[in-house]
Amino acid sequence: MNLNEFLTNLTRLTFFVIGLVTLLSYLRHRDRTRFDIMLVFAVFAIAVTFQELAALNNNDPTLNLLNGLAALAQPYLQLRVVDHFRRVPFRIKVIGFGGMVLSWLLLPLISQSLPLRQALPIGATVTATMLIVVWYALVEGYATIAFIRGAVTTAGVTRWRLGLASLGSALIVLIIVAAGAVVLAPELALYTAAVTQFLSLASGVSYYLGFAPPRFLRHWWQSAELYHFLRDVNQIPPEKRGHEILDRLCDATNRAVGALASVVTQWREREQHLSIVSARAARGALLPIGAFDLSDGAVGRAWRERQAVFEPSPAELGERSREIAAHVEAQSLIAVPITTAREVWGELIAFLRHAPLFVDDDVNLLNLFVEQAAVILEHEAMLNEQRAQSERSKILAEISQALTEVISDYPNLLHGIAQRASELLGDACVISLLSPDERSLRTVAIYDVDAQRLDALRASAPERPVSSPDSLRVKVINSGRALRIDDLSLQSGSPAQSNGEPSASPVHGLLIVPLRVQSKVIGTMGLSRHQAGYPYTAADQQFVQDIADRAALAIASAQENLERRHVEDALRAQTSLYESFLKAQSDMGDGVSITEGTHFVYANEALARIYGYSLPELLSIGSFLDLIAPEERASVQERFRQRQEGETTSNNGEILVVRKDGRRVYIEYAVKSMRRNGTLQTFSIIRDISERKRAEQALRETAADLARSNADLEQFAYVASHDLQEPLQMVSSFVQLLKRRYEGKLDKDADEFIRFAVDGAERMQTLINDLLDYSRVGTRGKPLGCVDMEEVLKQSLLNLRLTLEDQHASVTHDALPDVLGDESQLVQLFQNLISNGVKFHGDEPPHVHISAAPQDGRWRFAVRDNGIGIDPQYFERIFTLFQRLHKRSDYPGTGIGLAICKKIVERHGGRIWVESQEGQGSTFYLTLADARATII
Ligand code: ADP
Repeated sequence: MNLNEFLTNLTRLTFFVIGLVTLLSYLRHRDRTRFDIMLVFAVFAIAVTFQELAALNNNDPTLNLLNGLAALAQPYLQLRVVDHFRRVPFRIKVIGFGGMVLSWLLLPLISQSLPLRQALPIGATVTATMLIVVWYALVEGYATIAFIRGAVTTAGVTRWRLGLASLGSALIVLIIVAAGAVVLAPELALYTAAVTQFLSLASGVSYYLGFAPPRFLRHWWQSAELYHFLRDVNQIPPEKRGHEILDRLCDATNRAVGALASVVTQWREREQHLSIVSARAARGALLPIGAFDLSDGAVGRAWRERQAVFEPSPAELGERSREIAAHVEAQSLIAVPITTAREVWGELIAFLRHAPLFVDDDVNLLNLFVEQAAVILEHEAMLNEQRAQSERSKILAEISQALTEVISDYPNLLHGIAQRASELLGDACVISLLSPDERSLRTVAIYDVDAQRLDALRASAPERPVSSPDSLRVKVINSGRALRIDDLSLQSGSPAQSNGEPSASPVHGLLIVPLRVQSKVIGTMGLSRHQAGYPYTAADQQFVQDIADRAALAIASAQENLERRHVEDALRAQTSLYESFLKAQSDMGDGVSITEGTHFVYANEALARIYGYSLPELLSIGSFLDLIAPEERASVQERFRQRQEGETTSNNGEILVVRKDGRRVYIEYAVKSMRRNGTLQTFSIIRDISERKRAEQALRETAADLARSNADLEQFAYVASHDLQEPLQMVSSFVQLLKRRYEGKLDKDADEFIRFAVDGAERMQTLINDLLDYSRVGTRGKPLGCVDMEEVLKQSLLNLRLTLEDQHASVTHDALPDVLGDESQLVQLFQNLISNGVKFHGDEPPHVHISAAPQDGRWRFAVRDNGIGIDPQYFERIFTLFQRLHKRSDYPGTGIGLAICKKIVERHGGRIWVESQEGQGSTFYLTLADARATII
């Protein structure tokens, strides 16, 4: 076998093998595409088989003819294959089919092994041959171009396969053209034979690799595409991953399978649908975004079966897919589930204009993409989680730090936390605290990433009584457990509330955690999200709880701190009050000291001054008992002991102390003791009262002297008047006797002397009687009782009856009250005053009027006369013993009457005074207590 024969056989074998492989492939899958592919290579196989058989049978014409017929079917069948992935216009199909039929008819005319050819003119044969050649080349060329375009619009395995298919077809076109050239110029056959042979083999190999590539080759091609995709993804900056990956997946899908558009959908558990998270059209057409209902079409099937589905027919796409397909003018789709290690995450859907020629390869490639994307997504998710975790740890640390530092301004800090949490986890945060009485929930910090919502949230004044049953915060307070609701707007029976409830706008995700200090719940921290589909996760909850725990601790310690500060402030205020009190005491000269046991721990300058020591000297004195006068020490020590044992003793008094210079001074003290840490702490204020003591002593002595001299005087007056009575009586009796016996019997002078003696004796008697009366006011007084002053007046007038008649005097009076008094003395009082009023009369007949009026809770009596009056300069004097303003010859009297009046009124606790003008009459006033001694 020469080389030529070998190549020929190899070519034949190649086509034969492809025919067999495609037949097997068809038998395995039994679809139309594979059927048509199988037909293309079947005719090749049949052709080469007949060629071989013909060669074996001496170029048997029939076998050659059959070979030709089979070979001529190839272009049309090729068109049919093309039609599967690229719609072939009808006229091309007509040309293909018509050309095939015509070629078949013409074939007997040009077949060298048939006798017919000899019968025809050579021109006709050439023409017929050329017609067939042109038709063949055109149709095959069309297929070649279609394959090329297919290869250009796709990538990966499909591109390689379509590329190789196009190469195979192109080579066949060349072979045909070469055959045509040989027909026109047979001498070229010498050159073309080898070339044709080689081209045949090459096309065979190309076809083989294109339509039945070995597995390793496919894998190789696939990995190239996969590498391309991964490199693409790797170029995305880390912060943009996630979404970008999905976009790149779509782009890669569009490229790899020549899709018009691709979308990535993600499974939404709550809504039970797939929603589009990325959508890319190959030529930039905007895709309608929306959810995929899984009940219909290929997408649903792929989801249910958990495997890729190719749907060639537009009618079977499902409603939503059809919409997108219509938008991008696609006819079919491939849906591939995206499965991560944990879940079926979503689906990749590629929209294709036509069915792909090598669906399996496309599906495989997409599966690979999806697997890789899933791995990357998972990896990203893990990274994000990790990043978030470390970010959160950092924030927690920050917050903890801030919380420990900012103890006083914790409300502001809580605002900071609310803001941070809102920004980090979205979208609003409300921190509430229980009121001190635990009756209501007060919002202390509030934040919303949306400024308008923040205003609305603030305006909704979320102070809430703890009894409120529909409050979610209250539920958290009561249960002490966090509350996480994926979508609050879906909660049956509960109105859309925010965490600060009520809310101006609906919220979706909601997370409320308790603020706990040990096991006590002191408030809540709530977060809410505005958009549906972003529920809070368990990790979020843990994070928020971590923040809340720290915040709660800080709040508790801040509150404690605040309380302590209040106490301190109060103490400070008290201390300053105390200090100013001490100072005031000191300014007043009061000594202030604090002792612990018997030791001074505090003393002021004034104290030191009182004791005559310097302050340091005083403070170094061992025991305050040393300062006490020795005779008082025992009693002080006893009181100190009692105080130490908690017994109550007098807390103030007077005591004698000894100064440093040995001088003894009286001090007045006030002490307050309290027990502190086992020792008795005593706060004392002392004052030097020696001066006062001295003054008191002097006063006491004077009073005693006065009392003594008064008593002596009274005693003297009494004794004098009483003891004088008797000798006077005797003198008076004998002078009277002298007068009766010898009047007119002796000389004139003797008569006058006797008259003087009698007169003197009488005056002496009156004087002595008056003095006796005076002295008796103090000594012989009766107890005070209720006295009717009208009676008193009546009695006085009765006693004065003779005098009044004698002088033609008239006495009038108003109604007089009852007073508290000694009746006989009051009679004497009125008697003296009225008799004076009558005695000191002027030219008119005397008139005396007596009245009474209330004054300062007592009765004020007035005794008014129309007499000679008194010069005001004598108003005081007339009440003194023996003081008179007139000669005895003008007005008789002893000058004792008003002194007695004064003594009587003063004994009754009242006052007596006179108002008068000379020649205008006088009014004597006196005050007496009311009989009931009540204020009128
Ligand atoms: P006697 O009446 O004995 O002189 P009194 O003590 O009663 O002593 O009065 C003292 C003096 O007060 C009287 O001497 C008189 O000058 C004056 N006097 C007292 N009562 C009146 C009066 N009603 N009118 C004027 N002078 C009076």
